[in-house]
Amino acid sequence: MKKHNFYAGPSILSEYTLNNTAEAIKDFAGTGLSILEISHRSKEFTAVIEEAATLVKELLDIPEGYHVLFLGGGASLQFCMAPFNLLAKKAAYLETGTWAVNAIKEAKLFGEVDIVASSKEANFTFIPKGYTIPTDADYFHITTNNTIYGTEIRKDIDSPIPLVADMSSDIFSRPIDVSKYDLIYAGAQKNLAPAGVTIAIVKESALGKVERSIPTMLDYRTHIKKGSMFNTPPVLPIFAALQTLKWYKELGGIKELEKRDIAKATKLYDAIDSSKMFVGTTAHEDRSIMNVCYVMKPEFTELEKEFVDFASTKGIVGIKGHRSVGGFRASLYNALPIESVDVLINAMKEFEKNH
Ligand SMILES: *Cc1c(COP(=O)(O)O)cnc(C)c1O
Repeated sequence: MKKHNFYAGPSILSEYTLNNTAEAIKDFAGTGLSILEISHRSKEFTAVIEEAATLVKELLDIPEGYHVLFLGGGASLQFCMAPFNLLAKKAAYLETGTWAVNAIKEAKLFGEVDIVASSKEANFTFIPKGYTIPTDADYFHITTNNTIYGTEIRKDIDSPIPLVADMSSDIFSRPIDVSKYDLIYAGAQKNLAPAGVTIAIVKESALGKVERSIPTMLDYRTHIKKGSMFNTPPVLPIFAALQTLKWYKELGGIKELEKRDIAKATKLYDAIDSSKMFVGTTAHEDRSIMNVCYVMKPEFTELEKEFVDFASTKGIVGIKGHRSVGGFRASLYNALPIESVDVLINAMKEFEKNH
């Protein structure tokens, strides 16, 4: 049976990415060797990492003065690397979910942290607004998409101080004005590649402003200087990322991806809003187009597990909500076709009719 993959991460990849990666595991770029057994300094792999960086720059329209890095350690390592490199005295954070909480915890190791606003009391069901960004902080950190809760900041905010963003689960889902950010980072396993590589987009002029010594591997300047090849980079995830980036370009770029993502999310939210059984968990104006979180209305709550089982008979996988929210989470990353959304909506309708 065809599977409809709604996992939140690691998550669905395009057939293009999977097929080309499978091929490269057998025979990479006509070398007669697997990509798994060839030097990362070979000319074939060097071409891969260079093209990947170029395509990220092209797709996101990254201006001069920025570097695209491919790093290990996941987005979680960036929670510490960002303050290590950028926090001299104080940083400001917007607390919008578990990932933001984790980022705040690390930043506190390096200086004062000002949590400018939080939606924690409401289990992160909305994005706080009307807060003031302190102008004496070194940077303001936001999580643009809250993967667990299904809320998203879908525009580039104006910050009076350098802006740092965790875009792990919504990068490549909308055009961004990179010039508004000093640092953007994103783990690959949500919208790009298998786990193992993290993209960092770093403004060169943001670096070198802290006094502390930074361990070599945690210093962005190391990786800038060496073109993400200071040590052995995550070769296979980078190869897979390149395939996805090529596929994105072929599809028409980020604007086209955004159009598709909005169409998928709108369809599913409309189905939830017109249902007697299901209800969304987040504030409408902050709804994520990547992760759609919803539950069953109180009178049907005991049917939640039954629906997950029913959906699985239709090939639907990965819709169980994160344990801190419950219910369901349908992740609609770029590689998910709209047909899978239709299958999910039909399953919801059929289940509702049966009960
Ligand atoms: C998944 C996720 C992370 C954690 O990523 P790792 O690569 O597992 O460290 C951080 N932030 C956001 C927004 C995420 O979705």
